[in-house]
Amino acid sequence: MKKIEHIGIAVKDIDEAEQRFAKLLSTLSYKRETVESEGVITSFFKTGESKLELLAPTRPDSPIQKFLNKKGEGIHHIAFEVDDIEQKMATLKQEGFILINDQPKDGADNKKIAFIHPKSTGGILVEICQEK
Ligand code: ZN
Repeated sequence: MKKIEHIGIAVKDIDEAEQRFAKLLSTLSYKRETVESEGVITSFFKTGESKLELLAPTRPDSPIQKFLNKKGEGIHHIAFEVDDIEQKMATLKQEGFILINDQPKDGADNKKIAFIHPKSTGGILVEICQEK
């Protein structure tokens, strides 16, 4: 893993959360993007070298909606940047981690992404991502 690429935060209402985080970080969101396949609308903030990704559901069967129902708003995942996502996925699998998807998926912010199940990481949803 190269570095923490971003932290994902589940929110109910993207407009309201965007305003709140803009105040908190004293900076505006630099990008909004909907990933329809995941049922999610994202909004990105950059503060120093760190990035936050707000995630809100676009439909009731969205994985983010399920997360909100279960846990409420808050930290959803930690994303690490990798050089070669396919290779990293294979290594993690060999080491006993449970991958949620077998193949990298298209994520927001021009990334290929994959998720590691919290069951195998002590309760933290981990994303690995590679710039396309
Ligand atoms: Zn993410």
